Amino acid sequence: MIDRTLRRLAGLVPWALLAACSPSSDAPAGSSPAAGAAASGATEPGAPTATPPRPNGAAPSGLKVVVVGIDGATWVVMDPLLAGGELPAFAGLIERGTRAPLESQKPILSPCVWTTIATGRHREDHGIVRFRSTHSTVEKPKLMATTDRTAPALWNMVTSYGVGVGVIGWWVTWPAEAVEGYVVSDRVAYSRWSSWTDGSKNTRLTHPEELIEKLKDLVVDPVKAPPSEELFALADFTDKEREAILAADHPIPFHAPSVFKFGYCEQRTYERIGTELLSRSQPSLSLLFLVAVDPISHTYWHLFRPSEFQGHVDPDEARRVGKIVPAIYRHDDAYLAGLLPKFDANTVVIVVSDHGFKASGKLPGLTTEVDYNAVGIARTEELDDPVNVGQSGVHDLDGIFIAAGGPILKGAALKEKATVLDVAPTVLALLGLPVAKNMPGRVLSELIDPAFLARYPVTFIDAYEDRCKPTMFDAPAEFDDAGRTELLNSLGYTDVGGGK
Ligand SMILES: [Zn+2]
Repeated sequence: MIDRTLRRLAGLVPWALLAACSPSSDAPAGSSPAAGAAASGATEPGAPTATPPRPNGAAPSGLKVVVVGIDGATWVVMDPLLAGGELPAFAGLIERGTRAPLESQKPILSPCVWTTIATGRHREDHGIVRFRSTHSTVEKPKLMATTDRTAPALWNMVTSYGVGVGVIGWWVTWPAEAVEGYVVSDRVAYSRWSSWTDGSKNTRLTHPEELIEKLKDLVVDPVKAPPSEELFALADFTDKEREAILAADHPIPFHAPSVFKFGYCEQRTYERIGTELLSRSQPSLSLLFLVAVDPISHTYWHLFRPSEFQGHVDPDEARRVGKIVPAIYRHDDAYLAGLLPKFDANTVVIVVSDHGFKASGKLPGLTTEVDYNAVGIARTEELDDPVNVGQSGVHDLDGIFIAAGGPILKGAALKEKATVLDVAPTVLALLGLPVAKNMPGRVLSELIDPAFLARYPVTFIDAYEDRCKPTMFDAPAEFDDAGRTELLNSLGYTDVGGGK
């Protein structure tokens, strides 16, 4: 039992492999915090600390990869902030590595694009083609769920090789799938979308299921306990505007006070969980999703860039509240600054967004009637007082891409523009796992040290579908109660299931 727990800490080895593999053959080299630190001190980043193991023919590199997804982040906002020295954590990553635009796909819908990033597949192949589930009707809307997805995601792929993974808040991850590690699904936080749809969020919020008990105190409740000081620090709101933010007791589409409050609290939930879990143990692959740039940019763009609109924008309101857009980027930078030092030295950090932002040209209008049809839901709502409702910011095709650490070359330029299809193949290559031939994107190999690629050449398999089936959507038998308890124990939650 002790041996098994130690090995789980070292490599998050799957239950199925434990019986089949010899002790030295299944844990990725350098994949524990201790081994990672040792590797960074003794050898170049990404270098193996022992003979590379080859579970199922793969050669995990021992590198760790963290993908931070920032919904709607754009260089249009970031570049002036970077030039002014206001985003030191992002600047540090760019300085050590590389930056580029990341081309999205139309129609630019977040669940579709984030799933394309996670699967490396076009939306018609991965099945997430809109916000609402294929089982949804206008009268009874359901939100997209993992059960709507038809292609394996990175967390399934790495699990099939026994490589540990942690997923936090990523779009379309509920119900949480059984992975070699954990999933904190996108319905753990108080979500605007799940409140508008079927609200199915009582089971399989996390994998392992018991993990939610450890995390529920980290969920930020926008209604009962909004973080008022944090919210108010992002702009110079008037007393009346502050009251409207506090009074928003449910999310309303395109309604500034509620969009801001609920979007921010959603992000803070996953930030807190990210800090908690990544401080305990860093799996080989981590995916962390931060949403707030998107709702804030949709809602406040006209106050941030009033010159991009025809019609009157109150200059006083623009001066006081427009700063909320750059403020949320500074917030994300500060969060990253706190998180980056927790990562192992042999970590590649990849920051991506699913799209950028630009002016819609349409100013929000005062109204007392909100029509949910714009989000595909047959519902209207009467408000007590007229409020500004609208989207002055809309999605733009180019998002952001940053990569740094490990074998990522400093200042390398891309041969051709990166797209959202290229992220998954690149992550697999860095982990030393095969890329699937049915992924239309490419490994961004010109960003990677040739010495690393010589040691861990990019390999291919036809597809991940067959090998991932056992862990997609449903927990297979080997993820039994004892195994789940053991995983929680390995994260340091020693009071679970009588764990030692
Ligand atoms: Zn959006």
